[in-house]
Amino acid sequence: MNLVEFQNVSFAYNKGYASETQALDGVSFSVGEGEFVALVGHNGSGKSTVARLMNGLLEPTDGNVVIDGMETTDRQKLFDIRKTVGVVFQNPDNQMVASIIEDDVAFGPENIGLDPTEIRERVDWALECVGMSEHKKGTPFRLSGGQKQRIAIAGILALKPRVIVLDESTAMLDPVGREEIMNVVEKLNKEEKITVVMITHFMEEALRADRMIVLSGGKVLMDGGRELFERADELTAAGLDLPVAGDVAERLRKDGVDLKAGITEPDELVEALCQLKSRT
Ligand code: ADP
Ligand code: MG
Repeated sequence: MNLVEFQNVSFAYNKGYASETQALDGVSFSVGEGEFVALVGHNGSGKSTVARLMNGLLEPTDGNVVIDGMETTDRQKLFDIRKTVGVVFQNPDNQMVASIIEDDVAFGPENIGLDPTEIRERVDWALECVGMSEHKKGTPFRLSGGQKQRIAIAGILALKPRVIVLDESTAMLDPVGREEIMNVVEKLNKEEKITVVMITHFMEEALRADRMIVLSGGKVLMDGGRELFERADELTAAGLDLPVAGDVAERLRKDGVDLKAGITEPDELVEALCQLKSRT
């Protein structure tokens, strides 16, 4: 069964008021257990709205959001839905609640009333998963952005979600911090078998996912694998940057160089260029 299902979902903010904004319009997609999906789209395309709908923070104005068979409009299931889907947001500073790291990570499990032994085990496991065990007794305030975000991820992990949604959680980080988060996310997916929905506007990050869903103007524009990068013009029209190698390849193609569409990796580009050279 799919863990996440969006069935023809529409959502409008401030419905019925002059300021009504249609954020999503007939969005359908599903995410299976164990998948690593990137959700990409230009600013305002509806990505955060999808994240908020996924853990029942918002209810669809039309259609259904079903999490592990539970409809998010079913208020009695809300607790189970929030246990199933954990969301990590953009700014790690807004997600810190305690002055000692282990207390910060323990906050969620304490709130759901787990017993102290279980909490301790979960906190240790979560910090281990994000590679922050040695900072357990320290304070979050002196950490780098990437480290803070790893603590925020640990706080969500301690609730043992089956799906983790990262809403532009790398956007405020430098390249080193972004890489730290990507490595943690890949490890959670591959080793801990956690389903991942990574919302990002960095195409290099989207490339590391198994699948990419592209939102544009509140609708699903594309949903698929690497082959989507062959549709470079459509991606660009949707306000997305191509991966660096893809961007260079597209410029060369437009300049008449005979390269195949859909190049994404530097090695691939170098190889394609070398083959051209050997043909001449
Ligand atoms: P993204 O995360 O892709 O940037 P959002 O889901 O935040 O997109 O926004 C989708 C649309 O909904 C945008 O037009 C945005 O202005 C609008 N929107 C988002 N949040 C709110 C809100 N709290 N109130 C009113 N409109 C909103
Ligand atoms: Mg957003």
